[in-house]
Amino acid sequence: HVDSLHLDVMDGHFVPNISFGMPVIAALRKVSDLHFDCHLMTTNPDAYLPQLAEAGADLVTMHIEAVPDPTRAAQKARQAGLDFGLVINPNTPFGAVAPFMELCDLLLIMSVEPGFGSQAFIPEVLDKVRAAREWVESNDLAVDIQIDGGITTDTAPKARAAGANVFVAGTAIFGAPDPPAAAEELRTAIENA
Ligand code: ZN
Repeated sequence: HVDSLHLDVMDGHFVPNISFGMPVIAALRKVSDLHFDCHLMTTNPDAYLPQLAEAGADLVTMHIEAVPDPTRAAQKARQAGLDFGLVINPNTPFGAVAPFMELCDLLLIMSVEPGFGSQAFIPEVLDKVRAAREWVESNDLAVDIQIDGGITTDTAPKARAAGANVFVAGTAIFGAPDPPAAAEELRTAIENA
């Protein structure tokens, strides 16, 4: 029912919460052939790239707030065989990542503060989604625009209309009584946007 598994790695330092790391990703890889998208909410996101690749990650994204110049980190990700993306928090302007968009396969725009699930979507980030989409189009780049935080059948179509094309949902799926049906409802809502 989904195209990718988005894995929120938290170190208890960059964000005030701890989730999981390589052993859990490796365990998931044993039971899934899905695309693994690892969102690194960590202070030194480039420190474990070969280990993440070995554990089964396909793509890593790291916060521009953690790596203000991600040029070297992007190279290290490519050398490890990983696709690369950047993440931007709600209060960080698009200008912080714009100079580095050519390094990216994906830009993740946070629509909540990172670190915890079940938060409400911040509608002001839609302006940033529009700015990112315009930048990608006008510079003829192949960068996916992903949105993460508070994604529901109500907010996903708005993000789609603003230019997002990859949608991360946690609570809307795993908090639903029938998660596969909830995933399909989200997909339908996005396709009809
Ligand atoms: Zn995430």
